[in-house]
Amino acid sequence: MDKPLLLLDVDGPLNPFAARPHRCPQGYATYRTKPSSWISANAPKPAFSVPPLRVWLNAEHGARLKALPYDLVWATTWTHEANEWIGPPLDLPELPFVNWPRPRRIDPEGLHWKTRYAVEWVAGRPFAWVDDEIGQADRDWVALHHDAPALLHWVSPRRGLVEEDFRILADWARWLLCDGGPASSGPG
Ligand SMILES: [Mg+2]
Repeated sequence: MDKPLLLLDVDGPLNPFAARPHRCPQGYATYRTKPSSWISANAPKPAFSVPPLRVWLNAEHGARLKALPYDLVWATTWTHEANEWIGPPLDLPELPFVNWPRPRRIDPEGLHWKTRYAVEWVAGRPFAWVDDEIGQADRDWVALHHDAPALLHWVSPRRGLVEEDFRILADWARWLLCDGGPASSGPG
């Protein structure tokens, strides 16, 4: 059975932007980034005068994520720029990314704006997804509209990914790969 996909949100799970007190959390380092989406959000300011966007990243997260039995995918508004600004500090290889057709579109059924696109992107493969904005409505919708197993795992933007989150992801993949695959009907 193929490994499941792991959809990775950046702001929240990897960058605990809401940490309290509001300073770089233990184990994290500060990175100053200038993704092009940030530069265009500051238009008409010229790029050189746009203040950098600060992110907190924990270098250990890269190794922890690579050790999980998943194929990693960026599922973030950073889109392809996660490969430029987030992947290298974590020592992650270039990863595929979900390219949102209409980011932050209000969903008519109150789902998170990423949910329908994420399900379309995974195209029937089992997947886990870590994000600080997903909730029960998204889980219910995915259960109805996605034919393979899925784990939508909320991560606090105050803490980012912690030991318990990695354990939950590892346990779910183990369940899927050992017990959750389609049952063989046996020979003959
Ligand atoms: Mg987020």
